[in-house]
Amino acid sequence: MSAGALIALRDRIAEGEMALADELQRAVVARVDELIETVEAGARAAARVPHPDWPEVAARLARARYLTGRGWRRYLGDHANADVVAAAITHAVDADTRALAADVERVGAAGATAPVLRRSAEAFSIPCAACGGEAVTLTVSKVGPAGAEQLVVSSVSPVTVFRSIAGPRMRDVLALLEAADTGQVVAHLRTTQPGGCDAWCEACDRVYCKQHYAIEAQWSGSWHEGTFATCPLGHEHRID
Ligand SMILES: [Zn+2]
Ligand SMILES: [Zn+2]
Repeated sequence: MSAGALIALRDRIAEGEMALADELQRAVVARVDELIETVEAGARAAARVPHPDWPEVAARLARARYLTGRGWRRYLGDHANADVVAAAITHAVDADTRALAADVERVGAAGATAPVLRRSAEAFSIPCAACGGEAVTLTVSKVGPAGAEQLVVSSVSPVTVFRSIAGPRMRDVLALLEAADTGQVVAHLRTTQPGGCDAWCEACDRVYCKQHYAIEAQWSGSWHEGTFATCPLGHEHRID
C-alpha cells in the first residue's frame, strides 16, 4: 500500500484521536485524503508501463510538500494540538514518499548535468533536473531608446518574476551560456546576483522548474513576508 502511513493516520484522526474540534477534524481528514490521492498518483506514475513517468512522480512529490507546507501549517497554527497534527502528517508523508523520492533522486542525476539549451540567437534555458523543461530562461533584450542590451533571467517566484543583468556581468554570463555549462552558469548567478539562482536547490545541487517546486508566497494582508520553494525531495529554500 503506497500511502499506508497516511491512511493509518487518516483513520486515527477520523476516530477522534487528535481531539480536534469537529470542523477542524473534517478539514484535516480532507487534507490527508488529498495527500493519499497525491501519493498514490505518484506511485502509479512510478509503476507506469512501459516506462515510469518520473516527471509526474516528481510533480506529485512537490504537490505533497505544498499540501503540507507553510500555508497549511499556518492554518493549523490557530488551533490547539496544531503542532502535533502537523508533525504527524509530515512524518506520514515522509514515510510514504521515501521510496519515490529515492527513485526521483537517482533518476534526476542525469538531468542534473544536462547542458544549457540554446533556444535562439538571443535565448537560452537551463533544464529542470526532473523533467528537462525550462527551469530558468535567459534572454537578451534591448531596453530604452538607446537600445542598451540586458539579459533577462526568469525566476520561479510569482512575486519577482524576472531579474535582469547588464554590462560586463551580462557578457560573462553569455560566455558561460555559449559554453553550455549548466554548473558554471548556476555558480556564476549564485555568486554574482543578489537574487542568486532561485531555481537551484542547494541540498540537491540541482535546478528545478516551477512545476517541480512547491512554491508558497506568504502574505500578511498586503505585506509580502517571503516566498519559499520546496523541491521534490523536500528541501525548502527562500526565494524572495
Ligand atoms: Zn520540471
Ligand atoms: Zn532539493
